[in-house]
Amino acid sequence: MFEKYYNEQPVVSTTLINAINNNKLSHAYIFEINNYVNYLDYIYQFVKYIVCPNAKDENHNEEECPICAAINSNNYVELKFIDTDLLQIKKEQLIELQREFKTKPIEGNKKIYIILNAEKLNSSSANTILKFLEEPEEGIIAILITPSRYMVMDTILSRCQIIAFSKIGKSNYDIVKKVFLDFYNESSMSVEIEDEIKSLISKSITFARMLDDRKKDTILFYSDKFGDVLGSREQVIKLFSILNVLYYDVLKYKIGTSIQYFNGYEEDIKYLANLNTVDELINKIQEVTDFNKKIKYNVNINLAIDKFIINLGGK
Ligand SMILES: [Zn+2]
Repeated sequence: MFEKYYNEQPVVSTTLINAINNNKLSHAYIFEINNYVNYLDYIYQFVKYIVCPNAKDENHNEEECPICAAINSNNYVELKFIDTDLLQIKKEQLIELQREFKTKPIEGNKKIYIILNAEKLNSSSANTILKFLEEPEEGIIAILITPSRYMVMDTILSRCQIIAFSKIGKSNYDIVKKVFLDFYNESSMSVEIEDEIKSLISKSITFARMLDDRKKDTILFYSDKFGDVLGSREQVIKLFSILNVLYYDVLKYKIGTSIQYFNGYEEDIKYLANLNTVDELINKIQEVTDFNKKIKYNVNINLAIDKFIINLGGK
C-alpha cells in the first residue's frame, strides 16, 4: 500500500511501516510537509494502513474495499478531518471533536483525527486540545499537519512525534536512506539531519576527487577542507561510510553495471571511474573498510586519515 510513495519518501515510510508492524504507533504525529506535494495522499495512505485490516495484503483493492473507499471519499466514521479557512482553528471545532471521540470506535479499533494547518492552533484552541493530545483514550491517533514545525506552538510540538517529509531531490534518496538507517537512532528524518547527510555526501565526493588528483599531497589539504568533520569521530565514520558506498558505485560503473546509490552524481562517478582501474577501486574499498573498522576504536583520527591517504596515494 505504501509502495506507491515508498520511493518518494523512503525514510518516512520505513519509520511508519516499522511502527505499524511492531505495534508501536505513537498517539500523536505531526507531519512536516517541507514542500512535499503528495503529502495529503501520503497521509491518507498511512491512515488506511492503520485502519484497514487488509491494507497489507498484496491483492488488496482500495476501490473494492469498503473501509478504504469510505476513507477516500471522506465518509469513514472514525476519521475526522479538521481544517479552517480562517486564520485560527476555532476552539469550538476541537471541543466538538473531543465530544465525538468520547465514544469507542464503532467500525475499527482506531479513531483518527487529522488537523490540517496545525500552526493555526492558537493558545486558546491549543489549550483545549493539549490534554487530549497528551492522554488520549485508547485507540485514538492524532495526525497534525503543518508546512514547517517552526510555525507550531512548542506545547503542541513537544507532545507529538515529528515526521518530516524529505525535501531532497530523488537522486539523494538512496544514500540518505542508507546513512540515516545506519547511523541515526532518531525516529524520523529532520531537516537538520538531512542537511547534515547532504553535506557529508558532497564532502565524500570532494575527498575522493582530491585523493585521485593530489594523491598523497591530500595530507596537506584535507584538514582545511574537512576541519568541521574531523573534530568528531562519529562524523568521520559517517564520511568514510559514504565514501565506501561511493567507491562501490564507481566500481559498478567501471565494470558496466548500473550504479546503486549515487544516482544523480553520474559526472563525479564517471570522473572517478576514469582515474581508477578495477584493481585500484577494489583496493580503495578495502582500505576504507579497514579504516572504518579501526576508527571505531580510540585511534587518533588525524593519524588514521594520514595513514589511509599514504596507503592509497603513496605510490
Ligand atoms: Zn482497505
